[in-house]
Amino acid sequence: MADYTTQICIVGAGPTGLAAAVQAAEDGADVLVIDKAAAVGGAANMGMGPLGIGTKYQKRDMQDITVEKAFDMIMTYTHYMVDARVVKRYFEQSAETIEWLEEKGVEFEGAFKYFPQAEPTWHIVKTDQGIGPRAASFMNKALYGRAQELGVEFLLETPAKKLIKDGDAVTGVVATTKDGKEITIEAKAVIVCTGGAGGNPEFIKKETGWDFGKNMFNFAIPGIVGDGLRMMWEAGVDKLPVRIEQAANFEGIDELPQAIPNVMLQPNLLVNMHGKRFMNEDYMQNATFLSNAVGQQKGCVGFSIVDSSIVKYYIRNGVDNVSLVRPDPDVSGFMDGIKQAQETGNEGIVVADSLEELAEKAGIDVDNLLDTVDEYNDYCDSVDEEFFKPKRYLRPITRAPFFCAKVRPGGYGTVGGVRINENCECCDSEFEPIPGLYAAGADACNFYNDSYMFLLPGNSMGWSVNSGRIAGMEAAEFVQDDDEDEEE
Ligand SMILES: Cc1cc2nc3c(=O)[nH]c(=O)nc-3n(C[C@H](O)[C@H](O)[C@H](O)COP(=O)(O)OP(=O)(O)OC[C@H]3O[C@@H](n4cnc5c(N)ncnc54)[C@H](O)[C@@H]3O)c2cc1C
Repeated sequence: MADYTTQICIVGAGPTGLAAAVQAAEDGADVLVIDKAAAVGGAANMGMGPLGIGTKYQKRDMQDITVEKAFDMIMTYTHYMVDARVVKRYFEQSAETIEWLEEKGVEFEGAFKYFPQAEPTWHIVKTDQGIGPRAASFMNKALYGRAQELGVEFLLETPAKKLIKDGDAVTGVVATTKDGKEITIEAKAVIVCTGGAGGNPEFIKKETGWDFGKNMFNFAIPGIVGDGLRMMWEAGVDKLPVRIEQAANFEGIDELPQAIPNVMLQPNLLVNMHGKRFMNEDYMQNATFLSNAVGQQKGCVGFSIVDSSIVKYYIRNGVDNVSLVRPDPDVSGFMDGIKQAQETGNEGIVVADSLEELAEKAGIDVDNLLDTVDEYNDYCDSVDEEFFKPKRYLRPITRAPFFCAKVRPGGYGTVGGVRINENCECCDSEFEPIPGLYAAGADACNFYNDSYMFLLPGNSMGWSVNSGRIAGMEAAEFVQDDDEDEEE
């Protein structure tokens, strides 16, 4: 005898599980959601908003981003190694999802780029505190409220342990209550959306090869440890590669005032341990490209270098590119931040009175760095012959003191791991759907291939909300068809 009986059990109440719950309940299904955390929203409580393509905001701003263009961008970016049907269904639904969210009370600031080369697909959630991190928690709150209005039941602090199978079909979930009691939930369909495994270093090492804290510095959210992936693999779902959703990380920088990252992320000089440049720094603000590039260097480290003249220029004129994540353009607190870094022994920031000293302290090849800076300063008077950086970002490194910040590979968490089709049905190695089992969000996010598609920002949460809705509507249809079959 099961402890709970429902039509659809959703495992995980991040943006994916919340969107799935609201959609399935709106479509008439009985829904029970379990989450191991004490609060809903998952990783998205830290984020700012989802992708939308062809939305009213983009039309209002005369932005030329269409489903056709975005589809072509992603298929080209991934060399057609991802499921075109999944991408098409997601992008086609994404504009309507923005309006669907608005119906639930979510408001948006508009559609934004993350960095200059990106498309304006990032729909930042409006809050009472202006644009900035954690805005998307308002979206999660609205979805949670709507789900409760629709009668969805939530069991928090209730981690799922195992999927129950009857023959080929998935028919429920075994979970544990906060008192440690094992419970069974009988369901006609289960949607798994546990957010990947970003908080599980052993899992990351085994599945991706990255070593957390050594060469990988991703967000590691407690509790997001790969439970859903493990349960789905055990239930016979075909295993696909798990990847880090790469976004570079500046070592120790989050402890310092915003002025430090805001200056150090500008497209100035970036070198590796050999003292050589390795990318056109114009692309540094694409955090995925930066993370990938740094990950290919010796020691998986890069060094962003500025001199005092550049810092002074930014203090007077503002930085070249303002980040919406750290939206304060005023970097006059830079020197205070440097002082704080020195006083706290922050190893991510190096300050020196000469380039030789900077190289020695940071562990960069001294002679090569001096040659690189000589060459780079020459480019500032002509053109960047090495990596073609636009002239407007070429500023010489001449005046002491010099500042350097260490850049490391990082990421928002993991993505991918289970095969799904465009209906978010989990499939076995024969590509056949496993009846009653659906996956969505980070657990089922296979469509970037090897690298997060940051040129279409908001893609991660956009996928979560949209794939959650798709799983919710498909599961609702499945359970209703099943009920009709039983009645006949
Ligand atoms: C700092 C930060 C900023 C971000 N900003 C953005 C942004 O602005 N735009 C964007 O597109 N993306 C952003 N992202 C990424 C985005 O937040 C994720 O892609 C998204 O949250 C994934 O949604 P999800 O529902 O699949 O997983 P999650 O949000 O991780 O939620 C998973 C849920 O499953 C629960 N769970 C785990 N295991 C179990 C279990 N065994 N039983 C029951 N429940 C379980 C967890 O407690 C959690 O509540 C950001 C990520 C971070 C870390």
